[in-house]
Amino acid sequence: MPEDLKTAQLALHGGAPVRATLLPYGRHEIDEDDVAAVARVLRSDWLTGGPAVGEFEAAFARAVGAPDAVAVSNGTAALHAAMFAIGIGPGDEVIVPPMTFAASANAAVYQGGTPVFADVGADTLLIDPARVAEKMTARTRAIVAVDYTGQPCDYDALRRLTATRPDVTIVADACHALGARDRDRRVGTLADLSVFSLHPVKHVTTGEGGVVTTADPALAGRMRMFRNHGITVDQTQRGARASWLYEIVELGHNYRLTDIQCALGLSQLGKLAARVARRQAIAQEYTRAFASLPEVRPLAVRADASHAYHLFVVRVDTARLSADRATIFAALRRENIGVNVHYIPVHYHPFYRRRFGFGPGLCPVAEAAYEQILTLPMFPAMTARDVQDVVDAVTKVVEAFRRDDEAPRRRS
Ligand SMILES: *Cc1c(COP(=O)(O)O)cnc(C)c1O
Repeated sequence: MPEDLKTAQLALHGGAPVRATLLPYGRHEIDEDDVAAVARVLRSDWLTGGPAVGEFEAAFARAVGAPDAVAVSNGTAALHAAMFAIGIGPGDEVIVPPMTFAASANAAVYQGGTPVFADVGADTLLIDPARVAEKMTARTRAIVAVDYTGQPCDYDALRRLTATRPDVTIVADACHALGARDRDRRVGTLADLSVFSLHPVKHVTTGEGGVVTTADPALAGRMRMFRNHGITVDQTQRGARASWLYEIVELGHNYRLTDIQCALGLSQLGKLAARVARRQAIAQEYTRAFASLPEVRPLAVRADASHAYHLFVVRVDTARLSADRATIFAALRRENIGVNVHYIPVHYHPFYRRRFGFGPGLCPVAEAAYEQILTLPMFPAMTARDVQDVVDAVTKVVEAFRRDDEAPRRRS
């Protein structure tokens, strides 16, 4: 570490920031060929309900090695479609981790189901199969496992839990994990239904968008019906049959993804592998740099997992510092590093407290982690300079708040 970082005054205290402009925690990347692909659709006969939708779905399914993919308007709609397809309704319990974006749990609630929070493991913050086992009851109908930060949960362990429970479906909220693997098995094939988001901060974007992959044609059919008002026959089929007849057989929604978006998604998918590789390289640089900073510990990576690094989350050992996480967060923001916190435990939110009586104490591991976690910038277009700025700023802030009673450590 450069010696001047040890003595430099924090921007929080009036010093010069490590960089002049804010580095965001995530950012999309749109190339000229993406723009051209969208422009081609804009000049075509189909803006929605056309051929680009099926082409994108086929390409997405191929990209993850799944038999089928259903495209919908966003990741939340994808979770909702998954809950609908497996028949979640009032009285049904859906087990979900608290360390996730609230949509993972909201989707069960949309269908009248009851979310049941199962705590995460302390090293990875992925749902802990032992905690899931404790939360399973006769009313359990689904486990929504969140591939938090971009590595797959232990689906083999979850499968063992449901081996004698054919009435329990395993759903992967894989919104962080497009491009990740567990050994040679790709995320998108590890659960009965795997849900992805195409929001701009995710690996591949369509502006807004979502996808569910599955090997079950019946579930895929139900989701295609659900995204189109619960209508059995879609617009292209109707056109081909020259008929006005359609039937609403279930209560669905308009959750369609447009051809404009699918064209963008198709073009973006071609860049997935390179983008995941770049994220992994950035993660490696962070991990190497923080090895000499004992107060900053990256989350553990599961053995055999290939991590897609939607997020790079570290635990800040605040016991060794004279500042809490909020102060570290504020100090890094003032250094122009766009740190974030993923996530506020879902059961802390007022809606969940009010509706279900949840609150602090429900999931102690996630709650303790929440006091320490910080998300560092991570996106493929980050330059080597950007990565170094993050390392420098984290080092500068930690050095400034290191407790006097913590003897300075030798660094290589
Ligand atoms: C992004 C995300 C979602 C929701 O996706 P949207 O496309 O924003 O609706 C759901 N779950 C997780 C874990 C996410 O990161």
